[in-house]
Amino acid sequence: MVYNSLRKVLLVLGIILSCSILGHSWGFFGHKVIQQLAIYGLPKDMQGFYHRHMAHLVETSVRPDQRRNDDSTEAPRHFIDLEALGEKPLEEVPHTYPAAAAKYSTDTLQKYGIAPWHIIKMKERLTRAFQRRDTDSILYYSADLAHYIQDVHVPLHTSLNYDGQLTGQHGLHSLWESKVPEQNLASYNLQHNKARYLANPQEEIWGVVRSSHLLVPKLLEIERQVSQNFTDDTKYTIVERNGRSRKNYTDAFSSAYNKVLGTMVQDRMRASAEMTSSFWYTSWVDGGKPDLDKLLAMPRAKAEKKQLKNELKAWKKGTLLEKDLLLTKIRISLMNVIEWVSSSLA
Ligand SMILES: [Zn+2]
Repeated sequence: MVYNSLRKVLLVLGIILSCSILGHSWGFFGHKVIQQLAIYGLPKDMQGFYHRHMAHLVETSVRPDQRRNDDSTEAPRHFIDLEALGEKPLEEVPHTYPAAAAKYSTDTLQKYGIAPWHIIKMKERLTRAFQRRDTDSILYYSADLAHYIQDVHVPLHTSLNYDGQLTGQHGLHSLWESKVPEQNLASYNLQHNKARYLANPQEEIWGVVRSSHLLVPKLLEIERQVSQNFTDDTKYTIVERNGRSRKNYTDAFSSAYNKVLGTMVQDRMRASAEMTSSFWYTSWVDGGKPDLDKLLAMPRAKAEKKQLKNELKAWKKGTLLEKDLLLTKIRISLMNVIEWVSSSLA
């Protein structure tokens, strides 16, 4: 009797945990890893505060994606379909929102995405939150800003051919940003540079958009090249979702694809963490460098400082995963424990 109810509780817990690691857009997994890494790139004056709130920031790193389900204005904030905006979009699209809206109309921008402009809006809100020394808003805008910055580091978030759908390569979006990093994280070097002050955040973000967009032809071409060694049966697996069947890339294809991509996904993840860190830091400086330790409800305990030190050491040595210090991975191991306990109770 008791065992039965315990098993039910464990089952529900397991479902909740597994839902939280499945998803889209850098995969929920990727966003969460990058968010944690970004905290390690912060200067000392900010790090204690961000580390105290690390679990919350990691969890809310995917909130903008979850918001897409019930807010129709949300989707365009996550991408920009550059090819829809001109023959040579990297040269032609104005970098300020008013100039872009005047050139294309706000409706057109809503249709093809507003990510780079929305990032600047979020940066300004975070700066104001620092000026007001408002903890809730600092956390809220830190998470939202980070998400959109991370999205534009994904090449396919800057392209009209966002899922390979225009070139017969359906499913490429989640292959590149979810399956490949989830499968290969253990081999990635996740160390990145410390946060730097961004004198011109707008141009920095357009620099990110440019480098992402320039990778699009390459990642499409590599998919074509790798496909030559696969048949439809070895390349795809059919999965049923919400009563519909869809084709997903197989693990074998994903491995082969990752091999030829080389460090492309890893490099975008690292750049993404570094840029997230730099945007948080810049907003803090522009917000008057408030003393963040004073915003903590309780002063930092010795053990807490030691824990951060250990994490930073592991980050620098590339042993975060091995030492079980990645929050997303800890969730997965917790799921394994739950599975193990439920099966031994069965
Ligand atoms: Zn997103």
